[in-house]
Amino acid sequence: MKIGTPKEIFAGESRVAMTPASALQLIKLGYECAIEKGAGAAAGFSDDAYKEAGVEVIGTAAALWKACDIVAKVRQPEEVELKRLTKGKTLISFFNPAANEAGMELAKSKGANVIAMEMVPRISRAQKMDALSSMANIAGYRAVIEAGNNFGRFFTGQITAAGKVPPAKVLVVGAGVAGLAAIGTSTSLGAITYAFDVRPEVAEQVESMGAEFVYLDFEEEQQDGAATGGYASVSSPEFREAQLAKFRELAPEVDIVITTALIPNREAPELWTEDMVAAMKPGSVIVDLAAEKGGNCKLTVADEKIVTDNGVTIIGYTDFPSRMAAQSSTLYATNIRHMMADLTPEKDGQVIHDMEDDVIRGATVTFEGEITFPPPPPKVA
Ligand code: NAD
Repeated sequence: MKIGTPKEIFAGESRVAMTPASALQLIKLGYECAIEKGAGAAAGFSDDAYKEAGVEVIGTAAALWKACDIVAKVRQPEEVELKRLTKGKTLISFFNPAANEAGMELAKSKGANVIAMEMVPRISRAQKMDALSSMANIAGYRAVIEAGNNFGRFFTGQITAAGKVPPAKVLVVGAGVAGLAAIGTSTSLGAITYAFDVRPEVAEQVESMGAEFVYLDFEEEQQDGAATGGYASVSSPEFREAQLAKFRELAPEVDIVITTALIPNREAPELWTEDMVAAMKPGSVIVDLAAEKGGNCKLTVADEKIVTDNGVTIIGYTDFPSRMAAQSSTLYATNIRHMMADLTPEKDGQVIHDMEDDVIRGATVTFEGEITFPPPPPKVA
């Protein structure tokens, strides 16, 4: 069978779902590989590099979709792409199935099988295919780099002949995958780093990375926020008040705030209010990784950088992984080729789409003319 990757068509998207290195692995699984001409250019992978790896370079997107049995891409496909699916083709991509009924209907009507990368169950066996974590890790790292780029001072404290420089103080709100990556980056740059999460179990992880966990003055100390599967639930009004009171206390102290707080299938909780922004020092920076879901900071504008009247920079970019396209493409392409390895048990270049397999079943959103989303809960943790 042939697996191919088109050039992403979403404006500004620089990632690519196949790299020369991942193609070599796919070829070992028995597949022929193809890419659309120029598909990897924005991520730093030339057509020649693909050719050297044994990948066919196809001139147009239409010809690529036609020639391939399996199409791997990054962004949720657009209608023009879905219309290129035909019976029995497999598409592997981020797909946003919970908010993409039309996409699933179209794929179903074409008789195509769709694997949605964000639906890979977050169980140990599937970590190698967990593209959400790969991308969140990059976003967390890049959020700190972006903050540093907009912050006029060092992260680490220094004593120099020209004077003493205090270390920057960074607060990370939400210590999931992106938050922990931000904490690691911030502490390694030498900033005094604080972190908060509604899930009490992350305090140990935060502290093991050299940051200080922020505890609340709340009776049932942080017992509020954990839901199932390692995700957060909506906080009670009392807990939220205690959290906001703590943030109000911290706002004049911290130089950089990285917010990453999300609750599955909801708008992001609003945690950094206008008065907190107003209380921050001029030159402070907020990077809101929840911008795509409405933002954790009241003043965040998605996809923009704004500077408030009191000199606080608020960054609401939603494309951090694409801003590090070489790295994110490498990790995403690796996630894809691990998915392909599970779909190719005989390593003979033939897909066996085993709907009894928890991981494959969990990620499949259309199969043989049916919508198979949402999946049943996985059997194994
Ligand atoms: P996420 O992106 O849904 O949320 C980010 C963080 O925001 C979470 O830690 C959440 O607790 C926190 N949050 C929500 N509301 C908040 C609030 N009001 N204040 C402060 N923080 C708030 O989560 P994620 O990064 O995708 O990961 C969630 C969990 O899943 C983590 O425990 C992670 O370790 C786990 N996980 C497991 C696997 C695996 O086993 N394969 C893979 C990935 C993630």
